[in-house]
Amino acid sequence: MDDPARDPERRDPDRRDLRLRDVVAALESLYPLESAADWDRVGLVTGEPDQPVRRILFALDPTLAVIDEARDWDADLLVTHHPLLLRGVHSVATTSAKGASVTALVRAGVALWVGHTNADVADPGVSTVLADALGLADQRPLSRDGTNAGRVGELASPVTLAEFADVVASALPATAGGIRVSGDPDAAVRTVAVMGGSGDDRFDDVRASGADVYVTADLRHHPVLEAREEARGGPPYLVDAGHWATESLWLESGRERLLGALGHPAAATRVETRVSAIRTEPWTFVVGANAARPAPAVPPTGGVS
Ligand SMILES: [Zn+2]
Repeated sequence: MDDPARDPERRDPDRRDLRLRDVVAALESLYPLESAADWDRVGLVTGEPDQPVRRILFALDPTLAVIDEARDWDADLLVTHHPLLLRGVHSVATTSAKGASVTALVRAGVALWVGHTNADVADPGVSTVLADALGLADQRPLSRDGTNAGRVGELASPVTLAEFADVVASALPATAGGIRVSGDPDAAVRTVAVMGGSGDDRFDDVRASGADVYVTADLRHHPVLEAREEARGGPPYLVDAGHWATESLWLESGRERLLGALGHPAAATRVETRVSAIRTEPWTFVVGANAARPAPAVPPTGGVS
């Protein structure tokens, strides 16, 4: 229907739509493409630089459901953290999910822009937002390679590892998988290292940082077991808080920073932004977990008495 509130040109005759090239320039001033890792694939994936941008949707992953949401909301631009096309493709036919994604974006006129490792290392970026959410003071980079990856900081006062796990749980969106912890629940922790997303390639940096506990995600059996062996049961303890949960906090930060870079609040009158309500956490439920604190050790059965 003819609703002036839905027609920005009528609401403000002086309104000039932003163009995709303007929004991409603002995003890349915040998250420069040069700061991405060599193997990464970031920046503009679909879209025409001259197309108007009135609605921008932020999401962690460009899944088919997220692309449907962008199309149904009439978004002109989808900003995601994870790349759609990280590895080479030779077809974008709809017979594969990747092809269906590209086709849906192009058909709907939705531009896609990706900020991945360039958003990880930004300040504020994925890991600083996570560190802030955990209340870490005196923050410094975790990595020693000059890439500014990860953060290390201090809790206001020492807490037990179990109490710290509760801090993490309350700071992050809840997921089916919950939070896994390796270490003595009663051990004291104060210095905390964080790395949003998959961080099991950073154990050397974590040890060098002197952190009591390391919060990251996607921790696999062998790297974790070897890290715990190196620690001889002591610090750094490990917290696997989930990939989606540890990175999704960044989306709101990215949305606010983009509005700022576009000239907020003036930009807010020209562009609508929102963070997707779709959770792209892939796990849906767990069974058989011992969610409680570790049970007392069971005496060995059999043997001599
Ligand atoms: Zn990630």
